[in-house]
Amino acid sequence: MSEPKWTIGSILTWTKQYFADKGVASPRLDAEVLLSHILGTDRMYLYVNFDQPLEAGELAAFREAVKKRAARMPVAYITGRREFFGLSFAVTPAVLIPRPDTEVLVEAVIRRFQATDGPSVLDIGTGSGAVIVSLLHKLPAARGVATDVSAEALAVAADNAARLGVADRLEFLRGDLLAPAAGRVFDAIVSNPPYIAAKDMAALEPELGYEPRGALAGGADGLDFYRRMAGGAAALLRPGGFLAVEVGAGQARQVAALATEATGLEAADTIKDYAGVERVVVLERRL
Ligand code: SAM
Ligand code: GLN
Repeated sequence: MSEPKWTIGSILTWTKQYFADKGVASPRLDAEVLLSHILGTDRMYLYVNFDQPLEAGELAAFREAVKKRAARMPVAYITGRREFFGLSFAVTPAVLIPRPDTEVLVEAVIRRFQATDGPSVLDIGTGSGAVIVSLLHKLPAARGVATDVSAEALAVAADNAARLGVADRLEFLRGDLLAPAAGRVFDAIVSNPPYIAAKDMAALEPELGYEPRGALAGGADGLDFYRRMAGGAAALLRPGGFLAVEVGAGQARQVAALATEATGLEAADTIKDYAGVERVVVLERRL
């Protein structure tokens, strides 16, 4: 007797229930994304081919992916891909998975550059390169420098820069925050630094346990990296240049205040994300 054949439709129904039992937040969507990844199709294909039986190899590969997701590994680490700003980024567990909220940072910078020809941008803690690669992709005359402490992250970012056609305008430097770019001057510095406060690190969803701790942990109150960046940013900005940072929920006011206290920067703007959370703080170097 042979096993009854799984079809696209029947395995999606089964997997949705299995994921739901494991506490996965979007069980049906995740089942579809993983199955279309294994089959090398888009999700629409699944809907019009519900009755298609799965080959043994497809079934084995899908089972492996389902096992990982049931253990709460993020979908992006299983597929190796994540959409950000309309572009497809490669991701590995060495980099934070780019978040939709961070698109607000990219948009804020693009708006500010409307009157700047060929702007230069420094991205601190580039991770997958999502922020700087999206900026350079959108602004064909812009140039960038991207830093990270993680050599593995820089390799992922370099891969994304090459695939998305901006590698010739982007330089990568490994090191701590602003240090690798010392002595240079930019039109803007952008960063989505680690900003989760120590007391919140323990309570994160299981999925975040797969992401690099060094991409998330922002010290006792989550503000360590802002303090350290604000101290040196003005020296790396031309007069009129700006520092734009993503912040965690409830941090915007403190970040604006600590930067303006210490450094020759002035709070210029705070921008909300689509959920209404103050997500981006812009600090300008006046003269
Ligand atoms: N920019 C990416 C994004 O928005 O998706 C990744 C942001 S992730 C929240 C923060 C990044 O900062 C990580 O890639 C981490 O390795 C890097 N990082 C942590 N400490 C750093 C430091 N002292 N200097 C430079 N980069 C650092
Ligand atoms: N936005 C991330 C989160 O979900 C945190 C990223 C960061 O620390 N910059 O939780």
